[in-house]
Amino acid sequence: MKENRNPNYICVHAGQLKDEIYGGATAPIYTSTAYDYRGPGTNLYPRYFNTPNQVALGKKIAALENSEAGMIFGSGMAAISAVFLAFLKSGDHIILQRAIYGGTSHFVSAEFEKLGIDFTMIEHVDKQSLEASLKSNTKMVYIETPSNPLLEITDLSLVSAFAKANSLITAIDNTFASPINQTPADFGIDIIIHSATKYLGGHSDICAGTVSCSQQHMERIWNTAKNYGGSLSDQTVYLLERSMKTLALRVKKQSRSAKKIAKFLEKHSSIKKVNYPGLKSHPQHQLAKSQMNAYGGMMSFELEDDIDQSIFLENLEVIFPALSLAGVESTILAPTTTSHSLLSPEERKEQGISDRLLRFSVGIEEARILIADLENAISKSQNK
Ligand SMILES: *Cc1c(COP(=O)(O)O)cnc(C)c1O
Repeated sequence: MKENRNPNYICVHAGQLKDEIYGGATAPIYTSTAYDYRGPGTNLYPRYFNTPNQVALGKKIAALENSEAGMIFGSGMAAISAVFLAFLKSGDHIILQRAIYGGTSHFVSAEFEKLGIDFTMIEHVDKQSLEASLKSNTKMVYIETPSNPLLEITDLSLVSAFAKANSLITAIDNTFASPINQTPADFGIDIIIHSATKYLGGHSDICAGTVSCSQQHMERIWNTAKNYGGSLSDQTVYLLERSMKTLALRVKKQSRSAKKIAKFLEKHSSIKKVNYPGLKSHPQHQLAKSQMNAYGGMMSFELEDDIDQSIFLENLEVIFPALSLAGVESTILAPTTTSHSLLSPEERKEQGISDRLLRFSVGIEEARILIADLENAISKSQNK
């Protein structure tokens, strides 16, 4: 039945845990940490990632990502670190895209050396840079697209073809796109990770992570993850499941609004630059079009020099200056003072992150309200 591939259908129904006793519409929450070992499930235990709620939600993310198996974690970083630790050991080498989430970057620089894992970070992921980075002990390629905060696009088919030719495992942080806008498994990427704290949770009130991949890879990840203990409580698993029922509705609305707002900003005389893969002016617009269903709710832009950035932020009435992203409410931040503050000014410059750059996460408010808010803040912050 083709209907089963409809995103809204999957969000609501895939992996639904039925209330067999009372026939309720929503999933019961199983909070037990002690299960009868003679019962239907063997060795059920939250840290084994195998309680009824965890397993059911794992099926939903697997269905959304067109993968065989899914697993739910206590945070995005718990998911990311479990993937690294499952496939890399002392003496191995990994190739990573440079523009990855700050926490992941930190994990690499703080932990890999202790573990004896060698790594190469590449500025632009293309065939040449991948080939130049390949070593005899390379095991994995790790990417993130669209990237934060510049919304650069990495070619999924190119990465998976390179990895397959060299027997490497590929992993992607798919948080920015969400499974509604991008399903990397369809392009041959092996392991798909989300910070569910972002779009999957979507209401700025859950910290969680997910991994989806083949059954075979999942077995390996599970074997490692259960030792590190990054599971999510079943109450929060339930809350995440409820949030994910509206994932497609939210993301589609956010993507449509973001496109309208990006077009508005691009034409505005007080805006120097807009980074949004849905704009024809984005250097990788065609690549984005070929691998994304829509361009997402994230963008970044730079104000013209005659705009005072702090006055601009103070005058926003709807858009909320906040860390984190992908909630129902629109949020904005300056990466230089927040997400990328731990990079040196030189590193930021190297990566093209200007001190004037603002990262904007479009919420579910009407685009015209957000545009009016931006317009108002711009007019009040113009240096006369
Ligand atoms: C937030 C985020 C993470 C980390 O997720 P946590 O839930 O905070 O651990 C990883 N990748 C991306 C792209 C993120 O935005």
